[in-house]
Amino acid sequence: LTDIQHPVVLAIEVAGDGAVIPLASGRPDDIFENDGQITKRPIRALTLSALAPRPHEYLWDIGGGSGSIGLEWLWAHPTMRATSVEIDATRAERIRDNARRLGLERLNVVTGDAPDALTWLDTPDAVFIGGGISHQMLDTVWDRLPDRGRLVANGVTLEAEVLLAEWHAEKGGSLMRIELAQSKPLGRKRGWKSSYPIVQWSVTK
Ligand code: SAH
Repeated sequence: LTDIQHPVVLAIEVAGDGAVIPLASGRPDDIFENDGQITKRPIRALTLSALAPRPHEYLWDIGGGSGSIGLEWLWAHPTMRATSVEIDATRAERIRDNARRLGLERLNVVTGDAPDALTWLDTPDAVFIGGGISHQMLDTVWDRLPDRGRLVANGVTLEAEVLLAEWHAEKGGSLMRIELAQSKPLGRKRGWKSSYPIVQWSVTK
């Protein structure tokens, strides 16, 4: 840097009509290689909003899947840190590939079974649980979460919903049910195709 005597001006031209990655969370699903296990764009936008990233913060993304939550967290600001924990080795490798391809190789990926795999991680500012919800998981995460830390958990099964409803009753926060439907061809016309409802619990400790 000290060798530079004069200001350097670079002209950058963006050519072609390839995909441009948008700035807002809830980016298109297809920029993340995935096998179908991905938090879909509208749900992901709501999830990042609930996680409320702030500069310098550290996220645990539990049940990383494609890594989309951890990656969108990192995009919020260059100072963000995140760890995705994924039990399935093929998916964990896919998360690493996504991180490399998207220029976010600072994503830390742990192949392992949460909550055991959380033991050696630094204290998080926020935690997302997108897979493997159990009483033991919630217990461990709550224990490791510092005061004022945020927890967001998305459940799709009845079993997860029961747990989240119980924890919401005990710890407070907000419980939201997200029911989305997309228009799809129905014969020669169109109809609403519903997705499974998602129950999202968000809480600040
Ligand atoms: N949020 C992800 C999708 C999560 S799907 C995305 O946007 O891509 C749930 C994921 O949780 C699956 O990949 C599953 O393998 C993983 N999972 C389930 N139980 C787990 C556990 N105990 N520890 C770590 N990962 C787990």
